[in-house]
Amino acid sequence: MARLSLQAKKELALNLISVLEQTYPNLEMTLNYRDAWELLVGGILGAQTTDEQVNRVTATLFVDYPTVYDFAAASLKEITEAIRTVGLYRNKAKFLSGSAKIIVEKHDGIVPQSREELLALPGVGPKVASLVRGDYYQIPAVVVDTHCGRISRLLGLADKTDPRSIELELMKVLPEMAWIKWGHFMVTHGREYCKARCRNCLACPLSDLCQYPKRKTVQKELIAARQQNQESGCF
Ligand code: SF4
Repeated sequence: MARLSLQAKKELALNLISVLEQTYPNLEMTLNYRDAWELLVGGILGAQTTDEQVNRVTATLFVDYPTVYDFAAASLKEITEAIRTVGLYRNKAKFLSGSAKIIVEKHDGIVPQSREELLALPGVGPKVASLVRGDYYQIPAVVVDTHCGRISRLLGLADKTDPRSIELELMKVLPEMAWIKWGHFMVTHGREYCKARCRNCLACPLSDLCQYPKRKTVQKELIAARQQNQESGCF
């Protein structure tokens, strides 16, 4: 399947956003947080862990350590113990402790807004930096996690494979006002229709626009499934 031109991608993006807005009118952030620090903590803890698991841990973590100052004052052992039900907890405890200390010592306890300063914090990569900038500070940013990268490629909006390159591709084709929402759309759409191991293209509201069902091999399977009146399947 030929790659789309930049202009074609821009037009496709507008149409996709229109359908996504109708499909998910009440899009909600899945992490629980009250301020930028708590969102940063949720983002760091979220690596290779579900948001549900992160929320379970932070429900008590944020009671025991209510501010960034409390995290900075806590010992590494205490933080490690408090998050031990999360995967990779030893590394994540180091990241939380290190980030809290830098934020308290260098930024007067306030989570920085600039991408460079966020990326300088331990455990903060492009995804978490964009999450904090977009969702908390409302600075236009595209959050590219595995769902967003995978589905954006299937849709035809991105061609690259590494998250930073996909983020730059999406920033070129999505209208800026949709940057923050896009990552949430992709996570929700991945959960509802476009799972990594089972894409339900037959029921998917984006199927007329998405480039994946247009691939010849997939088309054959879809036609066969429709002829058998299947309502769902894996493609
Ligand atoms: S049409 Fe299929 S591949 Fe495309 S977004 Fe929908 S489920 Fe995913």
